[in-house]
Amino acid sequence: MTEPKAPGFSTLAIHAGAAPDPATGARATPIYQTTSFVFDDVDHAASLFGLQAFGNIYSRLGNPTCAVLEERVAALEGGTAALGVASGHAAEFLVMHTLLQPGDEFIASKKLYGGSINQFNHSYKNFDWRVKWADPDDLSTFEAAVSEKTKAIFIESIANPGGVIVDIQAIADIAHRAGVPLIVDNTMATPYLIRPFEHGADIVVHSATKFLGGHGNSVAGVIVDGGRFDWIKSGRYPMLSKPRPEYNGMVLGETFGNFGFAIACRVLGLRDLGPALSPFNAFMILTGIETLPLRMQRHCDNALKVAQHLQRHPKVAWVSYPGLEGDKYNGLAKRYSPKGAGAVFTFGLKGGYDAGVALVSNLKMFSHLANIGDTRSLVIHPASTTHRQLTAEQQTQAGAGPEVVRLSIGLEDVEDIIADLDEALAAS
Ligand SMILES: *Cc1c(COP(=O)(O)O)cnc(C)c1O
Repeated sequence: MTEPKAPGFSTLAIHAGAAPDPATGARATPIYQTTSFVFDDVDHAASLFGLQAFGNIYSRLGNPTCAVLEERVAALEGGTAALGVASGHAAEFLVMHTLLQPGDEFIASKKLYGGSINQFNHSYKNFDWRVKWADPDDLSTFEAAVSEKTKAIFIESIANPGGVIVDIQAIADIAHRAGVPLIVDNTMATPYLIRPFEHGADIVVHSATKFLGGHGNSVAGVIVDGGRFDWIKSGRYPMLSKPRPEYNGMVLGETFGNFGFAIACRVLGLRDLGPALSPFNAFMILTGIETLPLRMQRHCDNALKVAQHLQRHPKVAWVSYPGLEGDKYNGLAKRYSPKGAGAVFTFGLKGGYDAGVALVSNLKMFSHLANIGDTRSLVIHPASTTHRQLTAEQQTQAGAGPEVVRLSIGLEDVEDIIADLDEALAAS
C-alpha cells in the first residue's frame, strides 16, 4: 500500500483545522463570539484548569474560532502547534517572555521592522531582557554576539523594509552551536514563499495583520512551535523545564513534549499577560488565508514588474528588490524564496527628500500609510514620516535616507500601479 499523499499548500490554506460545525453544519468557520464556555461538571472544570484535559474555558486562553486559525497556520508552516494572539508584537513579546529571565540576552538582526527594534531596545529594558544587535550581511557578527547569557536569536526571513533576504540556515546553525533556538519573523514572506522550519528555525512568529490576513482589516499575531528544540535536555529555559507552581508542579516541556513551547506561551504568557485574539479578527484572518497562495503569487509578480519598471525610470537612482537580476540578495532569493521575493521594497529618488514628499502627495491610487501587506498598493516616505524623529545619520543607517521611498505592491492591475507611479513621478 502506498502512503496517502499529504495535502498540498493550497488545500491546507482552505481546509486545515476546519470541519463543518458539528452543531449546525455551518461550512465557513463560525465566529464563536463568547467570553466563556460551560463546564460539564466540577471535575471537568478542574481537569481543564489543571491542564489534564484540552477544552475551552475562557476566550482569553483560547477560543474555537481562534483554534482553527492556530491549526491552519501550524499546518502551513509545518509546525507542531500554534497560538493566536492580539498582534504581531504580542507574539514576539510572549515568545521572549517564555524564553528569557531577567538579565538574559538575545541576539537580533539589525534588519527588522522598526516597531520590533523599538520593542527590543526600549520596552524590554523593563524586564531586563537585553538585546545584542547583529548584521545579517555579516554572519560573524552573530557568532561574536553569543555569550553565556544568550537565550535566542531573532531574525526576519524577508526583512523590513523589504529588499533583504536572510540566510536562515546559516543563522540557525549558529544558534544551534550556541545551544539556543532560532526565532524567525515570517511576516513578509508568509509560508507560501518561505517555510523557516525547513531551514532550521525553531519558532516562527507572524504579524497576521499583514499578508496572512491580507486585506488591511484586522490586527492579529501568531506564534508557531517547530517542535524540534529539546527544552528539557537544554535545561536553560526554566519556564519549560522547571515545575510550575501554578500547575501543581507540572513541567510543561515534559508533559507536552514537542508542542510544549506553544502550550507555555498560552498558559504562562497569554493567560497571565492577556493579549487575546478576538474571534472576529481570527475569522477575518482565516478568510484571508484561504486565498493566500493566489494573493502572494500576484503580489510578487506585480512587485517584480514594478521594480523592473522603476529601475528603468530616469528619476529613480536605485531599486532594492531581491527579485531583480544583479540585486545583492538575488542569490539568496533564488535559494530561499524561488516563487518570488515578496511585495515590499524600497527605491531611491534622484531628487532626494523633496522628491519623496512630492511623490507621496502626487500618487492617486497608492495609499499613503504605515502598513504593508494589503490588497491595495501602499506607499510611505520614511524620512518625512515614520523615521522623522531620527538624525540624518540614523535615518541612513536604518535604510530610511532622505531619498528612500517604500512600496507595498497590491493586487490591482499592474498597468494601473505603474501608471499611477509614472504620473506621480512626472509631476514630482
Ligand atoms: C507589522 C509587523 C510586526 C508587528 O505586528 P503588529 O501586528 O502590527 O503588532 C512585526 N513584524 C513585522 C515584520 C511586521 O511587519
